[in-house]
Amino acid sequence: MKKKELLYEGKGKKMYKTDDEFLLITEFKDDLTAFNAEKRGNEAGKGALNCKISTELFHLLEKGGIATHLVETLSENEQLVKKCKIVPIEVIVRNVATGSLTKRLGIKDGTKLPFALVEFCLKDDALGDPFINDEHCLLLNLVKNQEQIEEIKTIARKINSILLDFFDTKNLRLIDFKIELGLDKDNKLILADEISPDSCRFWDKETNEKLDKDRFRQDLGNVKMAYEEVLKRILN
Ligand code: 5GP
Repeated sequence: MKKKELLYEGKGKKMYKTDDEFLLITEFKDDLTAFNAEKRGNEAGKGALNCKISTELFHLLEKGGIATHLVETLSENEQLVKKCKIVPIEVIVRNVATGSLTKRLGIKDGTKLPFALVEFCLKDDALGDPFINDEHCLLLNLVKNQEQIEEIKTIARKINSILLDFFDTKNLRLIDFKIELGLDKDNKLILADEISPDSCRFWDKETNEKLDKDRFRQDLGNVKMAYEEVLKRILN
């Protein structure tokens, strides 16, 4: 499958058209951004690591009954994916309080939550991806109806449950993550985008060492080593 014109360039990926109107090619970039792209960096090889990690996790989720956009991997940093209409909501699932949750609600960093918390952000860089609730989703016509919101939450919780169990066996705590869903050509919700240390938080089970993009956000160093460690544990 050959790349045709560039359809879209985001902070972490580029999307290209292909000869097939229903398929796109995703290219994972080495760029790192944080705080709505106010902080920028580049880590050679990061794109390839995220491509591999995301591919492994999407395969795992497919096996668990989650429909995804992934068709196949084309190279170390390219995937062939199904074209879909992205639902403009960032769906965040949290198992442990950290990041913006601790800032917004004053919960102590590292507190284990009594249940998996699902939150929504409006996917809008100009507005800084604000947190929104179910009614905002309906008000802005981001979803068809309340039933679709419930379906999104059910998919998000199922993904969380599969990934929690999986990472537990890899000595990693899945703290939180962000996913994006899309509607395929049959209007079915499918998992799109990526699941990688750019979009998740992973802490080592024994030491709570951060092995994700917080290393870049918080200038902790060894960003690439952390991503390599996550991939190593996934493959082990
Ligand atoms: P927080 O709201 O605490 O900043 O982020 C919660 C989780 O969602 C973290 O795992 C974070 O990496 C992920 N996340 C939130 N917003 C974005 C975003 O715009 N892009 C990516 N890649 N991940 C995000």
